[in-house]
Amino acid sequence: MKYDVIIIGAGPGGIFSAFELTKKNPDLKVAVFEAGNTLDKRKCPIDGEKIKSCINCKTCSIMSGFGGAGAFSDGKYNITNDFGGTLYEYIGKKRALELMKYVDDINMKYGGENTKIYSTTGTKFKKICMQNDLHLLDASVRHLGTDINYVVLENLYKELKDKVTFYFNQPVLKLEVIEDGYKVICEEDSYDCKYCIMSVGRVGSKWMEEVCQQLDIPTKSNRVDIGVRVEIPAEVFSHITDELYESKIVYRTKKYGDMVRTFCMNPKGVVVNENTNGIITVNGHSYGDESRHTSNTNFALLVAKRFSEPFKDSNGYGESIARLSNMLGGGVLVQRFGDLIRGRRSTESRMEQSFVTPTLNATPGDLSLVLPKRILDGIIEMIYALDKIAPGMANDDTLLYGVEVKFYNLEVGVDENLQSKYKNLYIIGDGSGITHSLSHASASGVHVARKILE
Ligand SMILES: Cc1cc2nc3c(=O)[nH]c(=O)nc-3n(C[C@H](O)[C@H](O)[C@H](O)COP(=O)(O)OP(=O)(O)OC[C@H]3O[C@@H](n4cnc5c(N)ncnc54)[C@H](O)[C@@H]3O)c2cc1C
Repeated sequence: MKYDVIIIGAGPGGIFSAFELTKKNPDLKVAVFEAGNTLDKRKCPIDGEKIKSCINCKTCSIMSGFGGAGAFSDGKYNITNDFGGTLYEYIGKKRALELMKYVDDINMKYGGENTKIYSTTGTKFKKICMQNDLHLLDASVRHLGTDINYVVLENLYKELKDKVTFYFNQPVLKLEVIEDGYKVICEEDSYDCKYCIMSVGRVGSKWMEEVCQQLDIPTKSNRVDIGVRVEIPAEVFSHITDELYESKIVYRTKKYGDMVRTFCMNPKGVVVNENTNGIITVNGHSYGDESRHTSNTNFALLVAKRFSEPFKDSNGYGESIARLSNMLGGGVLVQRFGDLIRGRRSTESRMEQSFVTPTLNATPGDLSLVLPKRILDGIIEMIYALDKIAPGMANDDTLLYGVEVKFYNLEVGVDENLQSKYKNLYIIGDGSGITHSLSHASASGVHVARKILE
């Protein structure tokens, strides 16, 4: 079977490549190969009763399938060059923003039209943060919410399914360079194409690394962000989340000069498990539908860690720390801030006395046995700094779930068209190490599609 374009991965990067290609040139023969399932069949078997923890499915329904890692996310669509990736370094700031806005418009046409966009422009919190040695990053954020995000994906799939050939549950095992293009090899068959777009996301990071080794595509080792997910009563942060929804606040620690930042804020949301390559970490999301709101807000506090020679395996470092929490707690650990400060573990009975009810069923434990001192010190310092702009943040009952790890893919060598050293082989989205967000990944998909169309 021969296609003009084969896209590997049906996350936001792959979806928006397919969307743009078929919209602008309906005659193109485009196929999408996806390791996971169709959107409607993506179901995590954990039901809290029969199956309480991860059973390591062949492909993780949370991370894989149509919609990619973002399918059950909070759908916070950040339009900014300040965070979410470094796409602008390749295609320029203006173009990157234009493409993010273009995708936002498409999301609006496909079900997101009644969602709200928040902005840091003109906010008083910028000054309040600065006065407390905290730094608020600039962004516009569209909050789709987990429910509307799903509707948008459903509508995009309806639009694409007759224009593109989808191969679900078909992980691509190997990619070969052939005379006039590429051979995509799956378990039972292989398929040829002239253009190939690799958009395999974070879940495809190991496979991407193998392909780069086989094809001698240069890679750079990247960073890893390690920290905790904080859960507090929604009232503590409501003055900020009501105005900005998501605020990315950065703090430089006095002790080590490390950068700690807030990440993925979910007002009235829930804390959830995340499975990356069999390791259970923590994440969070919230629903647009008010009936599904909780009384808590959650967000991550992450410390960025980069390594210098000779160590190269930053993801391996993050994995080892996450494994420690899995070893001690069978999954994610939870600890009250008051217990952490007093140097004692949280127990079931201490959790029962807590005024904050956890939204995730995690094992009470001691995060100081898991997180390196430097990282833990940074997180504690930031909690006290945030307490100045959101009093209550450093209360004893503030819940800390660990660990949250943001793995970054190796950054692959591509040019300004996101083309590798092989002609017509493009690497986009989180799998390229260049993007880490819905908006940047989607924009990279449109960018590459337009290059191919040219
Ligand atoms: C719980 C959660 C919440 C999040 N919330 C937000 C948020 O609110 N806002 C935000 O901006 N970002 C969020 N993110 C991050 C965001 O989802 C990602 O940045 C985005 O999905 C990246 O898109 P992508 O297309 O590059 O990769 P992905 O979405 O990861 O998609 C890659 C796809 O490729 C498939 N694949 C991998 N290898 C192969 C292979 N060999 N063969 C075939 N298919 C393969 C995978 O199955 C997957 O479906 C969240 C992530 C998670 C996990």
